[in-house]
Amino acid sequence: STGTETFEFQAEARQLLQLMVHSIYSNKDIFLRELISNASDALDKLRLAAFADKELAVDTSDLHIAIEVDREARTLTVRDNGVGMSRDEVVILIGTIAKSGTAELLEKIRETRDAAGSQDLIGQFGVGFYSSFMVADKVTLLTRRAGESTATRWESDGGATYAVETVDEAPQGTSVTLHLRPEDKEDQLFDYTAEWKIREIVKRYSDFIAWPIRMAVERADDDGKTTSETETLNSMKALWARSKDDVKEDEYKEFYRHLSHDWTDPLETIHMRAEGTFEYETLLFIPSRAPYDLFMRGAKRGVQLYVKRVFIMDDCQELMPEYLRFVKGVVDAQDLSLNISREILQKDRHIQLMRRRLVKKVLSTVKEMRANDAERYKTFWSEFGKAVKEGLLDDFDNQSTILEISSFASTHDQEQLTTLAEYVERMKDGQTDIYYSTGESRTMIENSPHMEAFRAKGYEVLLLTDPIDEMWVSSVPDFDGKKFQSIAKGQVDLDSEEEKENAGPEREQQEKDFADLLGWLTSQLAENVKEVRLSSRLTTSPACIVGDAEDMTPTLEKMYRAMGQ
Ligand code: ADP
Ligand code: MG
Repeated sequence: STGTETFEFQAEARQLLQLMVHSIYSNKDIFLRELISNASDALDKLRLAAFADKELAVDTSDLHIAIEVDREARTLTVRDNGVGMSRDEVVILIGTIAKSGTAELLEKIRETRDAAGSQDLIGQFGVGFYSSFMVADKVTLLTRRAGESTATRWESDGGATYAVETVDEAPQGTSVTLHLRPEDKEDQLFDYTAEWKIREIVKRYSDFIAWPIRMAVERADDDGKTTSETETLNSMKALWARSKDDVKEDEYKEFYRHLSHDWTDPLETIHMRAEGTFEYETLLFIPSRAPYDLFMRGAKRGVQLYVKRVFIMDDCQELMPEYLRFVKGVVDAQDLSLNISREILQKDRHIQLMRRRLVKKVLSTVKEMRANDAERYKTFWSEFGKAVKEGLLDDFDNQSTILEISSFASTHDQEQLTTLAEYVERMKDGQTDIYYSTGESRTMIENSPHMEAFRAKGYEVLLLTDPIDEMWVSSVPDFDGKKFQSIAKGQVDLDSEEEKENAGPEREQQEKDFADLLGWLTSQLAENVKEVRLSSRLTTSPACIVGDAEDMTPTLEKMYRAMGQ
């Protein structure tokens, strides 16, 4: 073996470790779930690698996870014979945090004073390997990458540094040994060397893991002699493959946590099976809150693809459109090749059909939620509405459904949002269009001179304040046959026929009286405006600027200008 090299944890990794060392989670048990989850990922990866490269010198005959306990030494080891890590990988994967958003997360935790809030945040993030330091004062990791001959030993006490050493021999895969904290020794609740404790945690958090999780257990036989035998602790049954009636609510929730690292319960669970020429099983979740990175560039999609119970890939973009990237879950297809690549997925007709079906199912689930549980729908919309509206631009097929499940602020109510259907129901006699205004905030729109006539005549106006609203509202033709009409564009005719009749002669006189002034104003302002018109729109402001029907809105104009166009 070579000499030991000491490295410093990257700053953010160190901060996260400090949070673990000081155990900001009240639930320390989850460290085991995290280690098992990593081991399970490593086994998945090895199986895939062996499929892809038949020459790879690896043994895939008995892939499993083993938990080993030494009560004397008070150590707990989680071992897998999976893909392992090279020395460089250990330094990069364990010594730094590649996850985007770590800095923001830590910043938020610093701002959040109460412990529950911090737990929430960190739960959302998924702490992974570092959670070992909630229960251990020293962690040793020994790993050998599939196909490599030398191995790497990593050790740290969770402080500022870790040690890395190259060693000559180690079994294929990874073992993580926790030197359990002495102060937990007396507390039964934290006795992570006790068989019942480990059994309970595995059952609760990791029962559905697809690989056997084995442990040596002591059995007293009839003569009072104890013998040791190996037992598989988990049932290994893929949750999505079970019939709906057999799955308990808590099992769904636990599986959701496993997938999402989110500690809150999902808002909706969608479990379905498609039979026929192309069979698949799917288990999807709509979370109850948006992940911190929902609007960050490169945010991943939450659907994993399996083929016949074998994990193929995370972040399967071919199965869920970007605007539904917050949906988490698993799709298990029966009739795909295990070697399937992204390129093939993109072209596969079955995959496209499957995606269409999944999208429809998610949207219809939201629709039902809106009809049956207003509160839940409200949570959904406030968390994900902005993302869903992106679909109005991207998903032409489902445009009308997306409009149906959308809600908007409106002059009808100060607080409650309205759906378009509700708006249409309230439309005044003779009103043909849906009026809206875009702007930076509700107050800004309400104070704009464009609103005056609409307010005076009692027309309801949608107040669209999300940046995405600018985009869809100019490209979506109508809802239920009613056009979207900006109150700041073109000639909006608000007068009823009767009013026009009465106003006729009076208006004509006004046009004459002001003709000179309007002509003069038009020539004076020629550089900036096309025409100066007499208007019946305003009730208190003397003048306002109106865009042409085909003009860009001020916000769009600003966006384009910012983009240098
Ligand atoms: P996450 O699993 O969310 O990526 P973790 O902190 O749990 O975050 O693990 C960090 C990375 O370390 C993993 O993504 C993986 O690449 C590597 N890793 C951890 N445990 C193992 C293991 N048992 N075998 C192989 N690689 C592992
Ligand atoms: Mg992990």
